[in-house]
Amino acid sequence: MRERIRAEGPISVEAYMEACNTYYYATRDPLGTAGDFTTAPEISQMFGELVGAALADCWRRAGSPADAIYVELGPGRGTLAADALRMMRSAGFSGEAHLVETSPMLREAQRAAVTDASWHQTIEQLPDVPMLLAANEFLDALPIRQHVSGVERRISVAGGGLAFDRDGEIVETSPARDEAVSLLSRKIVANGGAALIVDYGHERSAPGDTLQAVRAHGFASVLECPGEQDLTAHVDFEPVANAARCAGAGVTALATQGDWLKRLGIAERAATLAERNPERANDIAAALQRLTDDGQMGSLFKVIAIHAPNWPVPAGFA
Ligand code: SAH
Repeated sequence: MRERIRAEGPISVEAYMEACNTYYYATRDPLGTAGDFTTAPEISQMFGELVGAALADCWRRAGSPADAIYVELGPGRGTLAADALRMMRSAGFSGEAHLVETSPMLREAQRAAVTDASWHQTIEQLPDVPMLLAANEFLDALPIRQHVSGVERRISVAGGGLAFDRDGEIVETSPARDEAVSLLSRKIVANGGAALIVDYGHERSAPGDTLQAVRAHGFASVLECPGEQDLTAHVDFEPVANAARCAGAGVTALATQGDWLKRLGIAERAATLAERNPERANDIAAALQRLTDDGQMGSLFKVIAIHAPNWPVPAGFA
């Protein structure tokens, strides 16, 4: 990174995040206790099952179109896809699975978890059929731009390391996220379908620096060890909703992950699982809390659904 900056001059936060994450995801499986962070589907099968139940319910209310496919953006280890598809299959859905993933290493993990899937580099390459889409902690990994007093913030070489070229009140935007949401929304409007997008972030745009680095389950310095730690930024759901609306899609109100999972029946699912696996009752109760409690993932994480105007609104929203 220092050589690149010396050769090209200071690089934008956006180019830095893009370069770091491309290398990071291509060279490791970052998930789980041995990795850097743990996501909702890795905490419990209940998360993926409820995503699958919500998508299957929406599909059935849309008249069970036979050509509909399951789509996931950035599927990690493929755990969410496996849990969601198991639930959807039991509800009569027999469509194909299409995964958008750039990391060759994570594609291998997904191949082991989901049989008979197809992989794509970009959303654009997805087939033109109705889609039931899930994206968990995908948008937060896409690059953001930072601006200070209207000037784009850059990173330069300083001493033996890296430094930001300016400080002050930071405004973040993410053309990469806007583009991703716009593309998937246009496909949904043209072909039918619905998307569930889950991520940590906020409902309204506001200034603030949300770029963060996570390594071995703790926060790290954003400018240290480029490419060796997970770089993410909070998702501003205001431009996400706007991009979907501009594409002509229906958009739900934003729900907290806790409220959404409870409305979909996570407490009932936990009770059933605990009854069938009494030896795991404590783990199931702990996972339920971790996914839904306000002090844990319940209120920081948000869910929004995007749907074709002639499709039903997915369940779980106020
Ligand atoms: N959804 C998973 C993993 C989240 S980590 C879970 O909840 O466990 C982010 C995922 O997005 C990884 O699979 C990563 O390789 C993928 N990813 C990051 N940037 C991407 C891009 N531009 N296009 C496609 N996939 C991307």
